[in-house]
Amino acid sequence: MADVAGELLRAWADQPAIDHHCHPLRRWPFHLTAVELRGAFTEALDPQMAERHVVHTAAYHDALRRIAGELECAATEGAILAYRRAAEPGEYARRLMTRTGTGVMLVDSGFTTAESFTLPEQENAVGITQREIIRLETVAESLIENAGDPREWFGAVRTALRAAVGRGAVGVKTICAYRATLKLQPVDTDALGLAFSAIQLRAHRAEPPRLSGSALCHALLFEAALECRELDVPLQVHCGFGDPDEDLAETSPLGLRLLFTDPAYRGLRVALLHCYPYHREAGYLCSVFPDVYMDLSLTIPFAGLEGGRAMREALGLCPTSKLLYASDASRYPEVFLVAATAHREALADALGELVERGGHRPSS
Ligand SMILES: [Zn+2]
Repeated sequence: MADVAGELLRAWADQPAIDHHCHPLRRWPFHLTAVELRGAFTEALDPQMAERHVVHTAAYHDALRRIAGELECAATEGAILAYRRAAEPGEYARRLMTRTGTGVMLVDSGFTTAESFTLPEQENAVGITQREIIRLETVAESLIENAGDPREWFGAVRTALRAAVGRGAVGVKTICAYRATLKLQPVDTDALGLAFSAIQLRAHRAEPPRLSGSALCHALLFEAALECRELDVPLQVHCGFGDPDEDLAETSPLGLRLLFTDPAYRGLRVALLHCYPYHREAGYLCSVFPDVYMDLSLTIPFAGLEGGRAMREALGLCPTSKLLYASDASRYPEVFLVAATAHREALADALGELVERGGHRPSS
């Protein structure tokens, strides 16, 4: 198996990947601390995790090994951070980003701070083509204050999505899983009206509106789904694990069934992001609905050896034509490097095994 996997890796060396879900890099130069580096390899929000426990995870050990392999230094935090401090920041970042083998980055602009590159800056800084993915909930929150009722609000959101795609955005992402259950329910107009009034009240009191609850989030997601179908752009849905702001029990992609079965959404392409530990469920959906796709971003590299297992399990049902690559990396070039190299290896290992055992013929 190792032989076939090795052959595949060599054959792919010149094949640029499309990273279909990632976030902006932090504008350099900046000083990176050990705790910040650890914090980039956990979804924990409590700083104690980065301070005390991340160094004891398989994923972090693997990350240090991969970064050190590229830098040709010892696989320790100290050696990596010392190398980084001595390097010219732009050259260093560009080197790591080039090693990811990425041809295009589709960037979710919803997770942006004042320290983040804008997309044109990022394209210039890393030499990789950038395309925008619109964060649905961020757009919707910005338009709630001036809408008279839910219909007007949905109309404004759809107009904004159309305008964004018109200026070059290539998809829409929803973080419904963070704000409500992913078990989609048909819209209850009474509940929607009440929830809309409540959030508008906040907006009018100059409190930042924060969309939450199934009434608002599900109705918005259905509207966005219709618009994405019309615009012929994919709807990316955060599924499975993420930071503990979400209730993992409510994030299975199986809850999105309405999007796949209601004829109103026929032809809508849905990309299920992350998926773990529901990657088998996602693989099932990819195997029975023609326009469902999935990735294992975040799972690889955060789940350590489980990432490789998740790849094999996803490929149990998921056609290879529907398993997408994404890093879900953000801020630091090191995370992009680790995600990209771990992903290529996991895919080569899984396909290598399929080739050796089942006569599978890998296509591009
Ligand atoms: Zn993400």
